[in-house]
Amino acid sequence: MPVRDEAARIAGWIAELRHAIHREPEIGLHLPRTQARVLGALDGLPLEISTGRGLSSVTAVLRGGRPGPAVLLRGDMDALPVTEETRLPYASVIPGAMHACGHDLHTAMLAGAARLLCARQADLPGTVIFMFQPGEEGYAGARHMISEGVLDAAGERPAAAYALHVASGRLPCGVFSTRAGPMLAAADQITITVRGRGGHASQPHLAADPIPAACEMVIALQTLVTRHFDVFDPVVITVGSFHAGTADNVIPDEATFLATARSFSRESRGALAELVPRLIGDIARAHGLTAEADYTREYPVTVNDAGEAAFAGDVIAGVFGAERGRVAEFPLTGAEDFSFVLEQVPGAFVLLGACPPGQDPATAPTNHSAVAVFDDAALADGTALYAELALRRLARG
Ligand SMILES: [Zn+2]
Ligand SMILES: [Zn+2]
Repeated sequence: MPVRDEAARIAGWIAELRHAIHREPEIGLHLPRTQARVLGALDGLPLEISTGRGLSSVTAVLRGGRPGPAVLLRGDMDALPVTEETRLPYASVIPGAMHACGHDLHTAMLAGAARLLCARQADLPGTVIFMFQPGEEGYAGARHMISEGVLDAAGERPAAAYALHVASGRLPCGVFSTRAGPMLAAADQITITVRGRGGHASQPHLAADPIPAACEMVIALQTLVTRHFDVFDPVVITVGSFHAGTADNVIPDEATFLATARSFSRESRGALAELVPRLIGDIARAHGLTAEADYTREYPVTVNDAGEAAFAGDVIAGVFGAERGRVAEFPLTGAEDFSFVLEQVPGAFVLLGACPPGQDPATAPTNHSAVAVFDDAALADGTALYAELALRRLARG
């Protein structure tokens, strides 16, 4: 029976696992209930299973009956600090936590793929590493798993690595999308503190007011984006937090703000890390103030290997038909810690539409929304794609 049909046959089991994970979402690097569910789902399968030391990850290795390379499949497991408002029957019962990015689907689909691939163990020409990863949402869980050895779990480096990510909007349900080269942005955080000298608001000439200078910096960052960066190698800077002062008649000592910086190339990222602190420092000096700009590198650019992205496109077309695959015209400005895996192993990050029926993908609530809904209909095909990517990549040698 084709993998796709087998995935459809276990779709009920995959959905049940997904709903159980969805009901009790966990945030960050420590997801004990989710980990227990994954271990339960893999129980009895011919896998070498190890769990993380510093995080509640699960690494499962399937050794095929025939020699061949290793392939890594990744599914992230963590939720977001969002209170769910979907009213789904399996909605989160934990206030302040929700699987608003669909990682519950990834976990369940990867467990489903493990089942399908284990059933083919005897004929499998190589090894599959299943990477169940906590802490994608800002905790760099992939980096922790790499430092704990996930890339060496098979005894040799994987020849290729793949990750799937569902989208509640953007794509019609069941449509896959990927591209060669940059797929997602690098995300860095800038923390800025402007220091002046407080005083009475009626006599600003006797104080050193940090607020106007900080406002100037916010605007100057936007000018920096348009004047220093190639429009075809784009950069986004957004100030998402700005704080200063306590009253209308008091000039504060300090103003602080936080920005996120997104970029798509090593060059632009390097330039941001250099130019932003310089700009902030120069504006502060011009006003007789001091400022610190801390540029913290978070997730690198997620770069798909051209060959692996093309291969994933071929597998999608071969398994589901050409109409189910799209080449993404542009990268997304979101970021992913699968980027840490792709820095070391050629591979591809693939999006899968999971927009619920009756909703327009263009206007459906997006990932991270409290009302984002991911349709179960995507589960079987996501499972089949995970399994087929591994099978066909191993068969290629
Ligand atoms: Zn997310
Ligand atoms: Zn996500």
